[in-house]
Amino acid sequence: MPTRDDGDDGADAADALSLVAHELRLEILRALWAAEGHSLSFSDLRSAVGVRDAGQFNYHLSQLTGRFVAHVEDRYELLYPGHRVVDAIQSGVFHRDLAGSEIDVSGTCPDCAGSLAFTYAEFIARIECPDCGETVLGYPFDPGGFEARDDAGVVRAFDRRTRRYWLSATDGVCPVCAGPTDARLVADATTLQALDRYDKHFASDQPALVATDCQHCSFYSYVPSGVVLLSHPAVVGALYDRGVDVREKRLWTLPFVVEADRVALAGSDPLEVTVTAGPDDEPITATVGADASIRSLDS
Ligand SMILES: [Zn+2]
Ligand SMILES: [Zn+2]
Repeated sequence: MPTRDDGDDGADAADALSLVAHELRLEILRALWAAEGHSLSFSDLRSAVGVRDAGQFNYHLSQLTGRFVAHVEDRYELLYPGHRVVDAIQSGVFHRDLAGSEIDVSGTCPDCAGSLAFTYAEFIARIECPDCGETVLGYPFDPGGFEARDDAGVVRAFDRRTRRYWLSATDGVCPVCAGPTDARLVADATTLQALDRYDKHFASDQPALVATDCQHCSFYSYVPSGVVLLSHPAVVGALYDRGVDVREKRLWTLPFVVEADRVALAGSDPLEVTVTAGPDDEPITATVGADASIRSLDS
């Protein structure tokens, strides 16, 4: 296990970020990423980046070498931190804004039964009801999610990624930095959500939500309690036996995720909720405890 160095994080991070805060250095990283095996000789790297001045090129390459780029014999290779710099750029969150997309999606509004649309603004994707204004589900989505995809692919990617993020975070692993997360039920979500510009979205009508926080980075999220059912094999299997394949369903078409009347308070100290999934005549009821784990199942 690597040792943890909790020394001067801020200064170390500023130092590392300043090393890549140069257009030419970013181009070097991108050129290595695009190369076969993420590796190039000095001359190939220089011509890929297209710099005439050898001294200038040498200087910037030397600044990256060791931390973001490895110099092995006569070649330069992209190191894992270099990959992550490229990934951060490719996600598009620092320099792209794709506001204005609107895509019709399957599913109906739990409030008015109107048809739903996917919208995107300020890096938040939302499944909204244009008829009554309800946000059925909303979550940050990187501009990279729109790359090389048609409309249906974008909507599917939003569903898949949001689900993975939530399942990872509520299972103790930060989906952003891999640090430890905690997850707990919180009641009175309306008050909590009013604190934050990104969480004035959906599910605030549910009696409790799962709050998850990373202890190491800025990641946090409020997750509908029904989402934790998706990680329990008995629930997934029981739903499958009832004709619901959760892989084929978008999150906003699963009533136990987005409909407030599927979630009921079952205890306040410690906090506990029941979440009811499945068809009305064959329900599956899960009791979710204060630590956001499933305590019992009734089906
Ligand atoms: Zn509606
Ligand atoms: Zn984290």
